[in-house]
Amino acid sequence: MAKKKTLSDHCTECGARCCRYVATEVDKPTNKRDFDNLRWYLLHENVHVFITPENDWYLEFETPCSALGDCGKCLNYMTRPRICREHGEEAVTECEFLGEKSPYKQRFSTAGEFERWLDKKKIDWRWKRLKG
Ligand code: SF4
Ligand code: SF4
Repeated sequence: MAKKKTLSDHCTECGARCCRYVATEVDKPTNKRDFDNLRWYLLHENVHVFITPENDWYLEFETPCSALGDCGKCLNYMTRPRICREHGEEAVTECEFLGEKSPYKQRFSTAGEFERWLDKKKIDWRWKRLKG
C-alpha cells in the first residue's frame, strides 16, 4: 500500500506557494470609488484581487518572502512568524491549496479581467468622462 503523503511531502512538491505572496483583507466594494480603487491596484504588476468562497475580498501581492531559500525551504524556520506556523500546521487539509475546492471564488490579475466581470454582473463601475 502506498504511504500516505504528509504535509511536508506536499510542501516539498508544491514549491512553497504560500511563501510567495502576501494578502490582506479589504472591504467588499460597494460603489464606483471602491471599484475604481480595485482597478487601480490591478493595473500594477503582480497585484491580484481575490474573493473567497465566504465572499471576503482580499488584495494579493505576488512577492516571495526574503526568508525563502533557493531550495524552496524556509531559512528562518525556527523564528518564522506565527502566521507561517499556523498555516498548514495541523493536517494536510489545513492548507487551502491542497483541498479539492479552489481557495478562490474569483481571482483577478488584471484590471481588464475585473472590468469584464463587473460588466457581466451589470455593475456600473465607469466614471463619467470629465470635460476637457
Ligand atoms: S503549506 Fe500548502 S502552499 Fe504552503 S508549501 Fe505546503 S503545500 Fe504548499
Ligand atoms: S518566514 Fe519562512 S515560512 Fe514564512 S513565508 Fe517566509 S519562507 Fe515561508
